[in-house]
Amino acid sequence: MAAPGFIAVGSGPAGVSAAETFRRRHPRIPVRILSADPALPYSKPPLSKEFLGGGHTNLELHSVGWFARNDIDLHLGVTVDHIDVDTQEVVTVGGARYRYWHLVLAPGSAAVPLSVPGGDSAQPLRSFSDAVALKMAARFADTAAVIGGGLVGCETAARLAGMGLSTTLVVPEPAPLCRRFGPDVGERVHKMLTDAGVRVVTSTTVIEVGSDGVTVATGERIAGEVVVAATGVRPDIRLAAEAGLATERGRVVVDAHMRTSARNVYAAGDVTLAHNVAAGRPVVAEHWRDAAQQGLVAGLTAAGTPAVWDKVPGFSATIGTFTLKYRGWGGRHDTSDLSERAGGFAVAYRAGGRVVGTLDVTANPAP
Ligand SMILES: Cc1cc2nc3c(=O)[nH]c(=O)nc-3n(C[C@H](O)[C@H](O)[C@H](O)COP(=O)(O)OP(=O)(O)OC[C@H]3O[C@@H](n4cnc5c(N)ncnc54)[C@H](O)[C@@H]3O)c2cc1C
Repeated sequence: MAAPGFIAVGSGPAGVSAAETFRRRHPRIPVRILSADPALPYSKPPLSKEFLGGGHTNLELHSVGWFARNDIDLHLGVTVDHIDVDTQEVVTVGGARYRYWHLVLAPGSAAVPLSVPGGDSAQPLRSFSDAVALKMAARFADTAAVIGGGLVGCETAARLAGMGLSTTLVVPEPAPLCRRFGPDVGERVHKMLTDAGVRVVTSTTVIEVGSDGVTVATGERIAGEVVVAATGVRPDIRLAAEAGLATERGRVVVDAHMRTSARNVYAAGDVTLAHNVAAGRPVVAEHWRDAAQQGLVAGLTAAGTPAVWDKVPGFSATIGTFTLKYRGWGGRHDTSDLSERAGGFAVAYRAGGRVVGTLDVTANPAP
């Protein structure tokens, strides 16, 4: 068996950031990343943006040489089957065993399946290989149906329309993104999408996926040689739950240092319900930058350096020619104040009279 050391499960921003942070503090202890994804660690946000849209996009977080130079052992295409917190072992689906002194769980989220007839034939967009498959399919198609009015659905629909496909976005709510940002923003996002060439069908759900499109609950048949399921994600807590780690609200509970309930086991990224020091309470943050930040905190804690998660969560997204920037705690708000400003608008979300989030939307100048 290989010498024990530091292990990160997952090669997303949380796992990679944890591993590189630990390595910087401890140059000699073995550091391994075990990941089910066979691709060299890459950036996910561009997959529904510039990468899908065509241009050359360098997605790599680090080169192969960088991992070699930093002596970080990458085991790609390796799925962890279970962890044993008593013997401090990670066991892969192939039966390989790795002892750990410190383990960071960063398995991210899994797509929520589209459970309607034909639903499994819709293309997901969760990984590099999904994005390559979608990009290829889009090249040979004239029509696309995108299911789901969240950020990834909106971004993807706008990009597919920009690639010349006649694209329809099916949104169960009255407007895209309205559940997250409220009806005023939803209406504006609707307009951004139609301006980008997307037809938006609201307040209905897909009941069947066929080989040439989808059928919605109203009976309408929507053409889609390419059908994309952007139907949301859920944190993948299987490994943690089976190992008996504390979970709550479908997430792995960690303190502000990213420590789980098990000794020498940390968690970071989409999978966590993490205590944020600035908020003074547990917070859910399913964003790229926050996953990397939590990975950093987990890596420092494992290395014995004091660190806490205290950043305000947030993300950026691109819909057509608009950039949306959100910072905040993502939870419930009582009121929202929208104000116009040159080239866009801003929204302040309040709960109990206090600002709990801000959204800034800016039109990008034409290229
Ligand atoms: C198309 C797309 C666009 C996005 N755009 C944005 C954006 O614009 N802004 C933003 O902030 N966020 C965006 N996100 C979300 C962001 O990518 C995630 O919040 C972030 O990747 C979460 O990081 P993570 O490290 O927790 O998990 P992930 O990046 O999901 O990585 C999890 C890793 O764990 C591996 N894994 C899972 N189970 C196992 C197992 N049992 N054994 C071994 N390995 C396992 C997976 O293969 C994967 O490598 C986007 C996501 C997608 C898919």
